[in-house]
Amino acid sequence: MKMAMSEAAAPADPVAAKCSRCGRDYPLDASLTRCRRCGGVLLIRYDYRRVAEHLSRESLSRRIPSVWKYSELLPIRDLRHVVSLGEGGTYLHQCSRLVEHIGVKRILIKDETTNPTGSFVDRGCTVAVSKAVESGAESICCGATGNMGASLSAYAAKAGIGATIFLPKTLDIGKLYQMIAFGAKVELAPDYESAVARAEHLNRQSLLITTQNPYFMEGEKTTGYEIAEQMGWRLPDRIIVPMGSGGHLAMMKKALDEFSELGLIDPPTVKMTGIQAAGASPIVEAYNRNEDAVEGITNGTDTLAHDISIESPSAGDLALDAIRSSRGDCAGVTDKEILEAASLLAKSEGIFAEPAAASTIAGLKKLVETGAVDRDEEIICVITGAGLKDPAAARRFVKKARSVEIAIRSVEDRSLTTRLGPTKLRILEILSGKEAYGYEIRQQLEERFGKAVKIPVVYQHLKELEGIGLVRRSGVREVSGRPERQYYVLTEKGRISLERFRS
Ligand SMILES: [Zn+2]
Repeated sequence: MKMAMSEAAAPADPVAAKCSRCGRDYPLDASLTRCRRCGGVLLIRYDYRRVAEHLSRESLSRRIPSVWKYSELLPIRDLRHVVSLGEGGTYLHQCSRLVEHIGVKRILIKDETTNPTGSFVDRGCTVAVSKAVESGAESICCGATGNMGASLSAYAAKAGIGATIFLPKTLDIGKLYQMIAFGAKVELAPDYESAVARAEHLNRQSLLITTQNPYFMEGEKTTGYEIAEQMGWRLPDRIIVPMGSGGHLAMMKKALDEFSELGLIDPPTVKMTGIQAAGASPIVEAYNRNEDAVEGITNGTDTLAHDISIESPSAGDLALDAIRSSRGDCAGVTDKEILEAASLLAKSEGIFAEPAAASTIAGLKKLVETGAVDRDEEIICVITGAGLKDPAAARRFVKKARSVEIAIRSVEDRSLTTRLGPTKLRILEILSGKEAYGYEIRQQLEERFGKAVKIPVVYQHLKELEGIGLVRRSGVREVSGRPERQYYVLTEKGRISLERFRS
């Protein structure tokens, strides 16, 4: 099979990066982050007349679906530097069952959960890491939320370069496992903003990639190209996108404007609509207050949708502009609404989304109920990341179903029991007869099991068993002339674990 890239022509040289705020031009240097004069987001411009010589509806239709089929509109000069894991080219699903639940004419889902590391962020990371390789960087660093960290780690592994990822402590565990598996160096910071600040500090030794990196953002836009093509070179009435940094929504709008400039589609009239979690909604707040710029919030964020939990969105102003200029809308949704939407999406369409991603379904539902979205609209919801990346939220989501809850608890207990060593199991066995204190346990270990253990070791085992909730202290008793005795008993959980082990 031919590689997707071999079909693409040599890329047209991107002209420059232009500040979206003050208009200053920058040459395309891999270390670009933001405008050095005003701090604005840098957007890459192309020679669209030259690009149009290579790109047509016909030439695009012959290429294999992938981020890199649009290489003339991506800022990599030599395609031999491309680091790819097969990102993009994701499905656009017809959702007839969801339509019945929400009550609008047509819903389509752009399913980004099937990207290599399970989120749309792979689109940005393939471009950013390719640019790092093209510039000769030996390592990269970033301050990120979980999906970005997981994705950058994977692409750095593929490229054979080092990655240091700074992350907020409110992190989804599945994403952390991904980073560790891909061999990244992971460091935790109190919140997202301090993670970014620490990465910027490290920038002297390592190439910095953040959500504001102009090469990363160029990759994000490809969701927009794919939608236009998959819809048969037309656009729906509305596209709904989750907003963390605001970059994905803003860059999809850039993609549609570029396709229009190239004559591939009519000038877009699609309403760009952004959703945030109510506990982290600086863009929605700025929109509602009719402000031109997103100030950011300073009192912290509070949502289980960790991947869109950002106080100061780097592309917030751009997202705000894209929403207003397209006559779109935005909304904040609660964690409860997000979990309900995730459940609805999974049960009605077979797509398991993480909370940040399911926010678009919750947002659509809300906007239909308030009348902001018309019932005869055709709508695309972008589902940005997979459900299993966040097992803690997935766990809350199944709590309602009692039979499932029992099955999960049984699996969790079994894995706990198999982790217990022989001495701990013997201690549980001793305590299953009656309560006992440290010396007594030591004595029984020796008499019943022929196992001589020093007393501090017995106490260490008891402390660990107490920590995982299998034993508890039952009381202290004094015996005249001797030190106090601390007694221990099995908890209910300890009793169940021991019974399971015996069986
Ligand atoms: Zn500027």
